[in-house]
Amino acid sequence: MSENLTFTENVYKNFDRAIARLNLPRGLAEKIKVCNSMIQFSFPVRDGDGFRIVNAYRAEHSVHKRPTKGGIRYEVHVNADEVVALATLMTLKCAVVNVPFGGAKGGIRIDPRKESAEFIERATRRYTAELYYKNFIGPGVDVPAPDMGCGEREMAWIADTYATLAHHDVDHLACVTGKPVAQGGISGRKEATGRGVQFGIRELFRSADDVKGCGLSAGLGGKRVVVQGLGNVGYHAAKFLAEEDGCRIVGICERDGAIWNDAGLDVDAVRRHMDETNGGVKGFPGATYFEDGDKVLCGPCDILVPAALENQITEANADRIQARIIAEAANGPTTAAASERLFQRGVIVIPDLYLNAGGVTVSYFEWSKNLAHIRFGRLEKRLEEGRTHRLMQAIERLTDRRFGDDEFTNVARGADEIDRVRAGLDDTMRTSYAEIRTAQRRFPGIDLRTAAYIVAIDKVATSYMQLGVWP
Ligand code: GLU
Repeated sequence: MSENLTFTENVYKNFDRAIARLNLPRGLAEKIKVCNSMIQFSFPVRDGDGFRIVNAYRAEHSVHKRPTKGGIRYEVHVNADEVVALATLMTLKCAVVNVPFGGAKGGIRIDPRKESAEFIERATRRYTAELYYKNFIGPGVDVPAPDMGCGEREMAWIADTYATLAHHDVDHLACVTGKPVAQGGISGRKEATGRGVQFGIRELFRSADDVKGCGLSAGLGGKRVVVQGLGNVGYHAAKFLAEEDGCRIVGICERDGAIWNDAGLDVDAVRRHMDETNGGVKGFPGATYFEDGDKVLCGPCDILVPAALENQITEANADRIQARIIAEAANGPTTAAASERLFQRGVIVIPDLYLNAGGVTVSYFEWSKNLAHIRFGRLEKRLEEGRTHRLMQAIERLTDRRFGDDEFTNVARGADEIDRVRAGLDDTMRTSYAEIRTAQRRFPGIDLRTAAYIVAIDKVATSYMQLGVWP
């Protein structure tokens, strides 16, 4: 990272800011901070008539709760420091949103855009077998999920490989989350991180008091948004924000440059264009194209949503950013030094460990469903419907008036899995935001990130003390 700090060191810097406010027993802060274990391994993967060596990682940051949880990054530059930083963030993220997991993260050093599906499948299956024999995967041990460069397809391969190796384990489906719905996944997982970003931003804008410090009014109406990265997280976040009344996506930054349109961009059309042209935003009709993405990143808008890699907002561009709110959909997009600068300028940063926790929250729902071996709502849906139905009939009798047919069906309809997942995520984002704001009020003069770290570290510390690990 810039400012000469690695990603892990940046996370530690944020960590130390929070620790300075907490009164923890000597040594406990250090215990919470360090990575519990980290494996680095290499294996051969068949490629044509030969083999290629693939390097891979898995870090389990904290085992104060089991299983540990976190995605796998398929990326050509993935490295040990990055995986440890991301695993640390996972521990804090799970604590912030009250998801009962320790943090973990994995990495496979390949470029998925350049490899064949066969090569990726072989690498994924071998990676899973390596984790299995090293006891780094299992429903109660460590549960991977998608991260950059992979998705449902890879998770299905992991689940299948694990099921083959651990055929005695009746809970084998819970060894990984983010699976296709037809293979033990849960409705709403794919878009969960983006949905959580929308819900989290909504929380901040709910109160005029919370946004007035940065000079904006409450409500998302009329707000201009720039999104960096139109991958799974950025695409869904942009799409859901554009659906908010009066909110528009004015800029999108991608690998090949960036586009701008004051009137608002059609997010689905941009994504289609990217698919058709095999990657970029260049040439998208009805928008101005800039080769230098920084122009759009620092363009005139209210909310900037970095949804790509870490280390995007640094001391080099922090002062030029015009957005009044940075909504961190990515992990670690803002360096610790840049965060400080933005705070001094009155810019509000909604921190990653809270804002992008929607993915792991819905992963938790998926894991619970796999362990319960039953779809959410299967027992209650008709019961709920019947009860509401009878209530509505009673209202009709008492008032001597009739509901319309549509009204009857809509109101009485029992909640499906997707309704429950969405409601559970919304509740999670609301509760956590309230906890973070309470911590911020308790320690005047701190930013939302430090408040979120305080909330998380406090919970992990309590957990260690309750476990009796700490006297
Ligand atoms: N990779 C996602 C994250 O960074 C999701 C992790 C999970 O679902 O376990 O939060």
